[in-house]
Amino acid sequence: MPQTLLQKVWNHHAVRRLPNGQTQLFVGLHLIHEVTSPQAFDMLHARGWRVRYPERTVATVDHIVPTRDQRRPFLDVMAEDMLSALERNAHAAGIELLDLTSGAQGIVHVIGPELGLTQPGMTIACGDSHTSTHGAFGAIAFGIGTSQVRDVLASQCLAMDPLKVRRLEVHGRLAPGVYAKDVILEIIRRLGVNGGVGYAYEYAGDVVERMSMDERMTICNMSIEGGARVGYVNPDDTTFDYLRGRRRAPQGDAFDRAVEWWRSMGSDADAVYDDRVTVDAGSIRPTVTWGINPGQSVYVDERLPKPADVAPGERAALDEALGFMGWTAGAPIKGTRIDVAFLGSCTNGRLSDLREAARVVRGRHVAAHVRALVVPGSQGVRLAAEREGLDRVFSEAGFEWRGAGCSMCLAMNQDRLEGREVCASSSNRNFKGRQGSPSGRTLLMSPAMVAAAAVAGEVIDVREFSDGR
Ligand code: SF4
Repeated sequence: MPQTLLQKVWNHHAVRRLPNGQTQLFVGLHLIHEVTSPQAFDMLHARGWRVRYPERTVATVDHIVPTRDQRRPFLDVMAEDMLSALERNAHAAGIELLDLTSGAQGIVHVIGPELGLTQPGMTIACGDSHTSTHGAFGAIAFGIGTSQVRDVLASQCLAMDPLKVRRLEVHGRLAPGVYAKDVILEIIRRLGVNGGVGYAYEYAGDVVERMSMDERMTICNMSIEGGARVGYVNPDDTTFDYLRGRRRAPQGDAFDRAVEWWRSMGSDADAVYDDRVTVDAGSIRPTVTWGINPGQSVYVDERLPKPADVAPGERAALDEALGFMGWTAGAPIKGTRIDVAFLGSCTNGRLSDLREAARVVRGRHVAAHVRALVVPGSQGVRLAAEREGLDRVFSEAGFEWRGAGCSMCLAMNQDRLEGREVCASSSNRNFKGRQGSPSGRTLLMSPAMVAAAAVAGEVIDVREFSDGR
């Protein structure tokens, strides 16, 4: 029987079918961090249980770490407590901790791939919604809640509902100034933030096949924002080339053997899908969210929707979003004044993202009224960027160059919006209060668009701005 990658990976990891119809799945790699793990460890200890497979568990610190001054103890007592708890728990259980002194610390979804921990055909779980990122490698990667983190620590297994598979084929050519971020925002806009509920998204088509691993990670990262439980790309030579030589990937002959197996895990050519959607890449333009979920977006040269533009059932959501953001229906998004520019996150905090943003700001300066920061996704990204001189490009342009972490993606540290500030952000969520201020406003866009907005002081079309650079 021809199978999709999801079915193959699922069947390889199925321990048993549970009476309620769920599958008990073995988890190949469990990634943990300082925010969702302390409570899970407490629950584990309360029952007298131990970590079942510490060697399949890797910890890092990302969500609460300060990005300006990372000296210990942190000034933020709660952050210091959380990090100390992770250190104690990891040490006691014999779990590898990639902390601030390791040289390998960073956002959990950046370091997994970077170190070669993330590999095709795996099941991966992590207590963060954007674990779907790892699907870029042909892994099936689940974001899980705190009680599931406990379950995986205790048993290395998860009870999962079956999933349907939707194949999303992106064909054609992306125009200059249009990036992977625009592709996934387009998909979410078209199918809706709940369009993927009950599905795994399989991204394919010649555009995805030509994408780098960084670009594939951006797309898979936001699968969850479209409602999908997981997102993945079938592994290919781009995947294997990325993994070759990475610290934690198989080495030598073992790597060649692994490639053979990884290749066999891809969806069969005649696999049957529950749904298929085709996207014309050539029609996508630089995209900006205007509302309070990632599906509320327009092309930068479009206007905000008016009540007449949306279905009757969507008018209340439109009113709520326009009311919260303080925008007028039908107004252009271009020219919207911004206060903050944030470059970073597990969606767009990788080296290629910083390169693209640096290309836009080189020789220019951030607008006088804009606070701009660059937060590399990992210590590895930061170091590689510094080797290329990108830190100087950003600093000379007026950006703050920070240490690695989640930072303003969810503002659990000091990096936050104040009051009604508007932020041009390369992150993944524009929910109310997401960036630290209950009334703060987030506009999601590609890193190049964030860079252009930082310089212009307002939302601007990077295609006009970068004068062909
Ligand atoms: S960058 Fe944002 S989405 Fe990604 S792991 Fe951190 S908090 Fe979660």
